[in-house]
Amino acid sequence: MTKRDYYEILEVDRTASSAEIKSAYRKLAMKFHPDRNPGDKSAEEKFKELAEAYEVLSDPHKRSQYDRFGHEGLNSSGFQGFGDINDIFSRFGDIFGFGGSIFDDFFSGGRSSRRQRQKGVPGNDIKKTVKLTLEEIAEGTEKTVEYNKFKTCNVCSGTGAKSASAYVSCSNCGGTGEKRTVSNSIFGQIVNVTECPYCNGEGKIVKEKCEKCSGSGRIKTTSTVKVKIPPGVVEGNYIPLRGQGDSGMRGGTSGDLHIIIEEEQHEYFIRDGDDIIFDLTISYPEAVLGSEIIVPTLKGNVNLKIEPGTSAGSILRMKEKGIKHLDSHGRGDQLIRVDINVPDKISSKEKEFLKEMMKYDKFHKNRKGKNKENKKIFKNAFNN
Ligand SMILES: [Zn+2]
Ligand SMILES: [Zn+2]
Repeated sequence: MTKRDYYEILEVDRTASSAEIKSAYRKLAMKFHPDRNPGDKSAEEKFKELAEAYEVLSDPHKRSQYDRFGHEGLNSSGFQGFGDINDIFSRFGDIFGFGGSIFDDFFSGGRSSRRQRQKGVPGNDIKKTVKLTLEEIAEGTEKTVEYNKFKTCNVCSGTGAKSASAYVSCSNCGGTGEKRTVSNSIFGQIVNVTECPYCNGEGKIVKEKCEKCSGSGRIKTTSTVKVKIPPGVVEGNYIPLRGQGDSGMRGGTSGDLHIIIEEEQHEYFIRDGDDIIFDLTISYPEAVLGSEIIVPTLKGNVNLKIEPGTSAGSILRMKEKGIKHLDSHGRGDQLIRVDINVPDKISSKEKEFLKEMMKYDKFHKNRKGKNKENKKIFKNAFNN
């Protein structure tokens, strides 16, 4: 089989510059790339042919040998062409080096985008609990949160290498970062591409490690972040801060930081949704006569009017003294649950006073009235 002319294969003029040759090769290699033509034997042959032509024409010495003596002129250089696909990838990994590789730049639809998705190891999400008082929850607040995370090493910029020249090309994959196996099956030829396990797909291996991070590319640091917390949050709610978690490794994306809300128990108040409950115990005379009492609210003490004749178990509503709603305007109320203080130990003088009180019918009225009501209910039940 006679070999085709290399210029013809690359579809360039004999006077083409090295840039034109490179560009022509990229264009055609993309077209006949095995990833784009799985199982296509003739595309594979074409791909090999292109690689061989490029190998010769991109090397000034080989090119001049070829220009003067044709295919025969190359025999003395020991160049035999490429045996298989793996040789081609190995070869061009070396020619272009990792990162500036022809494949990364140009096989955007195939190989390289697949590699991009796999790139590096993503950082972990971090959970951090923030304790809030009811006062903070009622109005919303801003918190400065301190937490530990892995951050990209600032000395090596995350590469883990001591310097830019502290690398050696990965010998396992020849610098391509991929392991290709071409196998023949009854369905045709199958090209299997996997990330090179030796260099984790990077095509190069760190020879001298960064001293600060010992080659991991990350360092454990204490970080602070300001987080705005809206009013009305409840325990267990969380605020996600994208990208504030652990940094990824080898170009992987950063994790998130989740600020988890924890509610501190209040000294006086019980939360009920956006309402707050305050238990108030008043004296019997205050309940009968009415009074004005100082009660705490989330915004400080206020005077509360107790109407004459307030009974135990009454609920007094202080409008809009509760927690701001999270998802709408306005806010909850403060509810006062009234109880009446019954002293357990009293002096003989106090006892005398209460006995005196008992002589007045008014102070029995409620009990008697209730009994009368009950009798009426029973009577009606019997009559029907
Ligand atoms: Zn480092
Ligand atoms: Zn490798």
